[in-house]
Amino acid sequence: MPISQTHKAEFMNLVSSAPKYDLHCHSTASDGMLPPAEVVARAHANGVTTLALTDHDGLSGLPEAQAAAVALGLTLVPGTEISVEWNDHSVHIVGLQVDPQNPAMVAGLDGIRIGRANRAERIAAELEKVGFHGILATTMTYVGNPELVSRAHFARALVEMGACREVKQVFDRYLTPGKPGYVPHPWPSLAEALGWIRAAGGVAVIAHPGRYRMSNKELGQLFEAFRDLGGEAIEVASGSHTPEQIAHFGRQARHYAFMGSQGSDFHGPDESYVDLGRSLPLPEGVIPVWNNW
Ligand code: AMP
Ligand code: MN
Ligand code: MN
Ligand code: MN
Repeated sequence: MPISQTHKAEFMNLVSSAPKYDLHCHSTASDGMLPPAEVVARAHANGVTTLALTDHDGLSGLPEAQAAAVALGLTLVPGTEISVEWNDHSVHIVGLQVDPQNPAMVAGLDGIRIGRANRAERIAAELEKVGFHGILATTMTYVGNPELVSRAHFARALVEMGACREVKQVFDRYLTPGKPGYVPHPWPSLAEALGWIRAAGGVAVIAHPGRYRMSNKELGQLFEAFRDLGGEAIEVASGSHTPEQIAHFGRQARHYAFMGSQGSDFHGPDESYVDLGRSLPLPEGVIPVWNNW
């Protein structure tokens, strides 16, 4: 039987009034391309009702984002994406619902940003060696927060300097282990990051588990180490996951009794896998990380 127009209208109403979560994105406070208020406005325009701003290793975008969220009637979740080192891999841990004033969190993130400034100089020196003269100055024209220079900023500068056509290609040829412009860096440990997130009253989430170059066995070890440290959730529906990876990490979340998070990992209109609010939903049976918010 065809669905009546009334039913269809009711259904569409339900869909449009349903809360919509995007719990991972970036602004110019780290390596995103839009200022915090514009990220919030774009999320709102895309139908997002609850947005976590999760800039890398800092919280400085939150006041502007919060003001914009209040003006638009959107719920902002204070967050950050912390760079950590585990088993010689660089892993990202998202902290959600963190208290931005917490001294342990603030001091920990301050320390990471200080380390990043030094890393940027070492990356630039390596790229100078392979002929990218003036790379640091060009990179800095893309940086919104001088305390937060990311490889994404170097990648944009390398595109401008003609090294590659697109940012995505840069990471295949530069800035990654074994390639020019890669420098090893001592990020904090998983234990330190979880300590800060828990001290700040937040929930720790392993970001985009499908992006790490680890075997399933090693990823399982990461999940166990994370759980032993009080980690509670993994990003299941990430903008950087394929539908198959979303299904897989949905099963993993259930296996390890993790809650599931969802987020676009939006950086900018032309650069990201998906736009704000456009990641796929969590698979059936995965407990959402926002369950008790
Ligand atoms: P960093 O935290 O400075 O090491 O830089 C990591 C950032 O580089 C990530 O947050 C992304 O924004 C970007 N990035 C890393 N790998 C890729 C990739 N394969 N494609 C596009 N962007 C990437
Ligand atoms: Mn980034
Ligand atoms: Mn990340
Ligand atoms: Mn991210």
